[in-house]
Amino acid sequence: MAQNPYISIVIPVHNEQEVLEELYTRLTDSLDKLGKPYEIILTNDGSTDNSSQLLRQLHERRPNQIRVIEFNGNFGQHMAIMAGFERVRGQIVITMDADLQNPPEEIGKLVAAMEAGHDVVNTYRENRQDTWWRLQVSKWHNRIRAWMMPKLKMKDEGCMLRAYSRQIVDLMASTGESSTFIPALALTYASSPTEVGVAHAERSAGTSSYNFYKLIRYNFDLVTGFSVFPLQVFTMIGLLISMCSFAFVIFLMLRRLIVGPEVEGVFTLFAIMFFLLGIVLFGLGVVGEYVGRIYQEVRKRPRFVVKHVLERPVTAELVSDRHDYEVTKAQA
Ligand code: UDP
Ligand code: MG
Repeated sequence: MAQNPYISIVIPVHNEQEVLEELYTRLTDSLDKLGKPYEIILTNDGSTDNSSQLLRQLHERRPNQIRVIEFNGNFGQHMAIMAGFERVRGQIVITMDADLQNPPEEIGKLVAAMEAGHDVVNTYRENRQDTWWRLQVSKWHNRIRAWMMPKLKMKDEGCMLRAYSRQIVDLMASTGESSTFIPALALTYASSPTEVGVAHAERSAGTSSYNFYKLIRYNFDLVTGFSVFPLQVFTMIGLLISMCSFAFVIFLMLRRLIVGPEVEGVFTLFAIMFFLLGIVLFGLGVVGEYVGRIYQEVRKRPRFVVKHVLERPVTAELVSDRHDYEVTKAQA
């Protein structure tokens, strides 16, 4: 018999045909062990491999528990999760990657932390398994982020195995933001977040969808979405340079009056000019990142397009027993 889910798992899928079967087995095993009603929402984010057919098969195997959202194209990992958020039926919502780098066996830990009364459970990867350069990029990125956005308290923003209360998820889904970073967005609404360590594995098969360029774009989404710090930096740099140039002009004026005209040092001047030009171009780029996103939002185009959804409709019977599965909050 169909039951209202208590736990909703939301997973974005982009060209993951090699891992879906193992994901299904390990995920359903660990969830079955928890003994609570659950649903798994998989969003196919415009995969060009066989993922779409495989997802349909998974839905057919467990039509009451596995729901599949099929996108019309590639709208990105965070939009794939958002589409899941818009449709969740459970009270505890857990996001994870399809590639099994986040072991499904850790889900119990997250559920326990939620039941202890937290509304957001963040994670950090213990013994992280990634290539050397990814680790370096990640380390520096986490440091810079902590410095630029001190309000976002998380050790490791790269791990997507996280749990959110239904209320937080509904808030996130209602924002309508199209370039966002879900873990950061959740923290802006959280009232009692916590952090737990989870195991991390190497990608079991297939390849990462992110290259260096995509990672950089992704980080601009995080920074521009949650901070105006880069813009403020340019105001400060501009202010500093203006003050220095003013002193320089005074100096040149006095020199001209006292020592007379000069033509030496032209190339030094060029060097200074090119350096400043570089700063100006970079600053223009930073402004562009913000303006581009503002443009994107004001056009109000749909942030993703759903081709179809494979799921069982909610029955009257399910609606009526919804109250059975409220999250048990610890007494404050
Ligand atoms: N993903 C997605 N759309 C994309 C890129 C990735 O839905 O455009 C999914 C992907 O299937 C996986 C998760 O996002 O479930 C993380 O991607 P990946 O493992 O490639 O990233 P990495 O672990 O290398 O950061
Ligand atoms: Mg991965």
